[in-house]
Amino acid sequence: MSASEQASSLFQNYARYPISLVKGQGSWLWDDKGNKYLDFMCGIAVTNLGHAPKKVTEKLKAQLDELWHVSNLFHIPNQEKAASLLTANSCADAVFFCNSGAEANEAAIKLARRYHQKVKGTGRFEIITFHQSFHGRTLATLTATGQDKVKDGFLPLPAGFKSVPLHDLDALKAAIGPDTAAIMIEMVLAEGGVLVVQPDFLKAVKALCEQHGLLLIVDEIQTGMGRTGKLFAYEHYGIEPDIFTLAKGIASGFPAGAMLGKGYLKDAFTPGSHGSTFGGTPIATAAMIATIETILEDQLPQRAADMGEYLIQQLNEKVAVHPFVNEVRGLGLLIGIECKEPVNDIVLEGQKRGLLFVTAGPNVIRLLPNLYISKEEIDQAVSMIAELIHDHTAVNKA
Ligand SMILES: *Cc1c(COP(=O)(O)O)cnc(C)c1O
Repeated sequence: MSASEQASSLFQNYARYPISLVKGQGSWLWDDKGNKYLDFMCGIAVTNLGHAPKKVTEKLKAQLDELWHVSNLFHIPNQEKAASLLTANSCADAVFFCNSGAEANEAAIKLARRYHQKVKGTGRFEIITFHQSFHGRTLATLTATGQDKVKDGFLPLPAGFKSVPLHDLDALKAAIGPDTAAIMIEMVLAEGGVLVVQPDFLKAVKALCEQHGLLLIVDEIQTGMGRTGKLFAYEHYGIEPDIFTLAKGIASGFPAGAMLGKGYLKDAFTPGSHGSTFGGTPIATAAMIATIETILEDQLPQRAADMGEYLIQQLNEKVAVHPFVNEVRGLGLLIGIECKEPVNDIVLEGQKRGLLFVTAGPNVIRLLPNLYISKEEIDQAVSMIAELIHDHTAVNKA
């Protein structure tokens, strides 16, 4: 532990980078020393509209002067409006608001169990997920997560979860049993290495759900809100989930999450069955309304599709040609550069040169620019990444 970590009053559960960011505008961030950074991570897919987006800032300021918080024991007009915006633009008919991704997935797991136990009377409870998935850090959602590292030291884990390899239909079929309630999947396994789910596989998963009476839960926490070139990534696949979850980009950086479901699931959540003190407060839902309206008005999903195509094309031309790189892949503006060796040093050197991005597993560079990103900013980032990889491999050879 370094001296500054020892002096800190915080638990040291994050390996923090040695930078303090203090100001943001659009695609750019500034640290406390005045250094400027091009942001290709967006707080990990949170600030999808860039930093300090004008319409959201204005709406939040106005709401701060009106009302911050009332209990969910009362009607909250902003909540109704945010929910109807979400249902009007998705396959869902009902929304539950919470404060984070993990809580949204907890709500999804609870709804699936309760639907089977109280509405269908089947008593089913088990959720099947996939290796390399990421669903959150609460006890239930870390158990759902298909990565051992998030479970280390947290035994015993709650019962009722299984995970199988992605794209292995036989393993999935074998895992389905009389207790299975739902299958839960990300359309792009983002933390797990930016693994895009194959359309044929998802169609087969959906068919299995229909055949066995299982609910399909899609975790859109990282892929949702226009990031992948559609408002929600499931739209790429021509299927509809029974339940899907949102957080990260839903309110431009104000903490919020949502769990959305089909109308036939409404009977499962009766009054008192689930709740959250802060879920969908007037302030959080004001930020959500402004975010969703902006995404729709400015046609940001289409912009993400176009800019994502340009970014992948530029990366293929200027970065993938390097022998250090295996593959460039992704959907919209959720892009992974899979390399032959660990890339953490490249992330750190990128920060020194003024470009922020993250990893997705040890060997994958993950790029998540905001959805207004310009071609000039993309060109700048791509040439920096090409140089970073060139210099990294030159140093390693020397
Ligand atoms: C980030 C993330 C979560 C967890 O969200 P939190 O807000 O950190 O609880 C869950 N699922 C996916 C796919 C995520 O990317």
